[in-house]
Amino acid sequence: TTAVPASLEVLSAGVRAPLAGGGDVEYAALDYAASAPVLRRVWEEVAEYAPYYGSVHRGTGHLSRLSTELFERSRETVAAFLDCRPADQVVFTRSTTDSLNLLAAALPAGTRVFVFETEHHAALLPWARHGHQVTYLDAPHSPRHAVEIAESALAARPEAGGPALLCVTGASNVTGELWPVAELAAAAHRHGARIVLDAAQLAPHRPVSVRRLDVDWVAFSGHKLYAPFGAGVLAGRADWLTTAAPYLAGGGATRVVNRRTDGGVHVQWAEDEARHEAGSPNVIGAFAIAAACRALTEAGHETLVAHEQELLAVLREGLAEIPAVRELSLFGPAADRVAVSSFTVAGHDNGQLAVELSERFGIGVRSGMFCAQPLVRRLLGASAESTEECDGPLQALRVSFGAGTPREHVTRLVDAVSTLAG
Ligand code: PMP
Repeated sequence: TTAVPASLEVLSAGVRAPLAGGGDVEYAALDYAASAPVLRRVWEEVAEYAPYYGSVHRGTGHLSRLSTELFERSRETVAAFLDCRPADQVVFTRSTTDSLNLLAAALPAGTRVFVFETEHHAALLPWARHGHQVTYLDAPHSPRHAVEIAESALAARPEAGGPALLCVTGASNVTGELWPVAELAAAAHRHGARIVLDAAQLAPHRPVSVRRLDVDWVAFSGHKLYAPFGAGVLAGRADWLTTAAPYLAGGGATRVVNRRTDGGVHVQWAEDEARHEAGSPNVIGAFAIAAACRALTEAGHETLVAHEQELLAVLREGLAEIPAVRELSLFGPAADRVAVSSFTVAGHDNGQLAVELSERFGIGVRSGMFCAQPLVRRLLGASAESTEECDGPLQALRVSFGAGTPREHVTRLVDAVSTLAG
């Protein structure tokens, strides 16, 4: 297998999993798309920083000052990792879900939002919740088709000239397929709309350049990028973020707060990232994300991509030889994809198979609809409008992996599925 550099070694390497029949086996973590294991490097950097941990933006003591500096430097590291434009803001959030909800809350009144039905719920649902008019776009059958669908919907909007936003995923959390982000960004801009990229699944596998893709915002989560501690990022254009009401009202997001002569309270909100970061920030989370960005940059995405693509071929070729297995795909088997693949095994309850993979083989995968129900309903042959709950036949299995995955984990999965498929 292609060697992965030591800076990408994961902390969970060698962890043992108990087997239902007795004994144990090295745990095969094949659910990176949910949460990736933590890089040893990230953990060690956090441990090195931990003695200096202190409150951010509040104290004058040595540790507070150090923590404030590290927090702000983490922003710069993330901006460099994402290849942001100089005027872009990097807001630390709790997660991708939080980032997209923040953006939904910050859109100007009357913004028309366009989103594919194939999105993860975190990208599908925040917009309507915040009262925006949403146009849900049908599932495309190819990357080219996605651009055509977006383009004609954007062109047909009744409020031409009004604010509009297209929300797209970089890589599907169900099929792993890559979306034509740069082309969608160009289409959005041609029609006077903006674009936000959900990079939750893209950033852990491929470099993301805000500048090159020409996206207005990008969102991702630390815990899928080999960093723990509940932090995420929303990065991009400052204008709408600076004019929007703060995401949360509270300390840290304000410049001046005073009583008004009429008895009320007047607030002048911060205009930088602090505007949307009220409350004591998650400095360890931000620091860990920055450490992960440094590790990935240093290792180089090429080695990671080569490693993942080699194992992805092993996985897909192995599964293709099992007659009962059907891989889920929107764009077809030849589509470019990251190390995420979902499939069903005919004649089996796929949820039960996931339990057996764990109990009999020490393999962790995910089953269900992966928080992308309209997409998975469609891919399983139900209509996107079907309302059955996610159980029994309406479930798939998802295998996803990355830096810390040895070839043996993937071959064990293929052999186990072959055995269970009978
Ligand atoms: N978007 C995509 C494509 C995802 O895969 C996920 C997580 N499964 C999210 C958004 C939400 O990320 P989080 O749970 O970290 O908020």
